[in-house]
Amino acid sequence: MNVPITRRDFLNGTLLAGAGLVLGPRLHVSPADAWNGYGGVGDYARAHGNMYDDMITAHRMRDGEFERAVAGAIDTGEMYDLIAVGGGISGLAAAVFFQKRRGGSCLILDNHAIFGGEARRNEFDVDGQTLVAHQASAIFLVPKKGGYTDTFYNLIGMDRSAFDYQSCAEMPLSHSPYDEPENYGFYFGPPFGKTPGVWVMNPWERRLEGAPLSDDVKADLLRSQAVAEPGPIPQTEGDAVSRQLDTITLEDYLMARHKIARETVRTFLSPVAGGGYGLGPDALSAFCNFAIETQFPEDGDDALGDQMFPDGNSGFVRLMVKTLIPDVFPGPRTVDAVWQNRIQFGALDRTGQATRIRLNATVVRVEHAGSPGSAAHVVVTYVKGGRLYRVKARAVVMAGGSWTTKHIVADLPDSHRAAYAQFYRSPCLMANTAVRNWRFLYKMGLSGCRWFGGLGNYLSVRRQARVGGIKPTLGPDSPIVLTIKVLFAQPGLPVAEQGSLGRAQLLGTSFAQYERGFREQFGDMFAPGGFDPRRDIAGIILNRWGHAYVNPQPGFFFGANGQPAPRDVLRAAPHGRIAFANTDLAGAMDHRNSIREADRAVTQLLGA
Ligand SMILES: Cc1cc2nc3c(=O)[nH]c(=O)nc-3n(C[C@H](O)[C@H](O)[C@H](O)COP(=O)(O)OP(=O)(O)OC[C@H]3O[C@@H](n4cnc5c(N)ncnc54)[C@H](O)[C@@H]3O)c2cc1C
Repeated sequence: MNVPITRRDFLNGTLLAGAGLVLGPRLHVSPADAWNGYGGVGDYARAHGNMYDDMITAHRMRDGEFERAVAGAIDTGEMYDLIAVGGGISGLAAAVFFQKRRGGSCLILDNHAIFGGEARRNEFDVDGQTLVAHQASAIFLVPKKGGYTDTFYNLIGMDRSAFDYQSCAEMPLSHSPYDEPENYGFYFGPPFGKTPGVWVMNPWERRLEGAPLSDDVKADLLRSQAVAEPGPIPQTEGDAVSRQLDTITLEDYLMARHKIARETVRTFLSPVAGGGYGLGPDALSAFCNFAIETQFPEDGDDALGDQMFPDGNSGFVRLMVKTLIPDVFPGPRTVDAVWQNRIQFGALDRTGQATRIRLNATVVRVEHAGSPGSAAHVVVTYVKGGRLYRVKARAVVMAGGSWTTKHIVADLPDSHRAAYAQFYRSPCLMANTAVRNWRFLYKMGLSGCRWFGGLGNYLSVRRQARVGGIKPTLGPDSPIVLTIKVLFAQPGLPVAEQGSLGRAQLLGTSFAQYERGFREQFGDMFAPGGFDPRRDIAGIILNRWGHAYVNPQPGFFFGANGQPAPRDVLRAAPHGRIAFANTDLAGAMDHRNSIREADRAVTQLLGA
């Protein structure tokens, strides 16, 4: 276990510094390298999740360290019609809408080395073959023809509504990380007193036979699977049923709906039932269970299922960037070309082009030049390369998310400050593990599995969409990337505390510690298939997201105690020349919410 498989890659992929953590008898790496670890190859190798330096700068901003120096910022002399703070899907979509409706000069500022926010990719080179996986945002649904989502996808050059996927002759496989396909197994290890652990194949069909669980827990779990008496379901966001659901926790809802014990929810259902929201059901509003479906009732085709670019929703990001600045990706604006071609970084921020994207730029202050009601422009100050710069804009979309917006808009009204104080976000680690083949899973009869305890909760072998140079077939000897999502729920604690404890854990664990943890876990779970971590793992990339998910508590969606919902305060109108976007304003993590919130913010700023 101590022989580091990724150290070879790690040392190839990072600069060795003179001081910092000791790795071996003669080797030292800086704290940043010890934290970031291996980043893979290609354009995203230095932009996997939140990087150490970005995280440090952001926390200095949070602690007000730049406040006094802001007055001395270098004035670039630039004036834009629109600045979007945040270059994730929401900030990019704001620029797309702005250029379509009004046109003018637009600057997107993002603190990372690549645009995309939570929608970015990792790339591995495994024995000469390039493998791609998503860093966070994964799937989309087939949009209804002519509907809102479809119209936006067309606007950015999405040239198909569903993908063809690789085929696998040996075993039926899913093409989404969220499915439980055939040949699924549950693993019960040390937390259940089992060393070595116990596998239960096709657990639902076999009614959990062989699982080291009490009869009561088994009965609870089986009831949780049954299509139970559903009770009233919200039809539209904001109807009486949704408002009622927003008064209770998702945990209470699940307990009542399935007649199951609280402990069953916390031990077994938490990461799945709360998975799209980062925390467990104890902390969430019961409306979370229905938010996305009621927000986008028209999308989705059950027969075609989840859709996924090989790099997740990074596919849409690249199309948006191509739409805004065509030279960033050589070739035509097609899914194939944009998916495959390398980023031309030099084209992102050139003088004279309508839209510019400035990376590695952390915005530390946004403020009207005078009274918000009458100011002629907004001043935006950012840190780049250790220096402060100042730019001006006639309008600003704050698309970076609640956790930074509340710190940087200096003239934010008290009402908005109070609203943002009710937004909680929790962390997530997305670990992409490239394996040289998945014969060990095949031998065990597994195409995917779930476990309870340890790092993460589930993984599956995915057939990838056939875009660009993706091979048409996949077999047990093909190298693949297995994605594990690690959440940090601490059921029973207050929502804010769960977020900060989880962040402390995520930020306080080195790459080497996580690497060892994953290797041990894979070694334990897949020993029956002959898995050897040293031989079979080609590399691990960690994507750390300190504020990955919004965690809507009861009352978040529709308000509590006669007070308006916090999101409505921020969405109702712009604050002077500043409007608010980002997926979190919808209370549900979905790339379509990032787009829709940007659409609304730009519409407000244009006065339409
Ligand atoms: C693990 C995970 C899985 C997901 N899976 C799916 C899925 O399958 N399907 C789906 O539709 N959605 C999914 N989502 C949600 C989806 O990814 C998000 O809704 C969307 O990508 C968010 O885009 P955004 O622009 O709103 O925010 P972000 O992606 O967070 O972008 C904001 C950007 O602004 C930057 N920023 C913040 N503050 C500043 C500042 N002060 N200065 C400069 N830059 C700043 C941030 O670093 C970031 O780059 C998932 C999310 C996560 C975390």
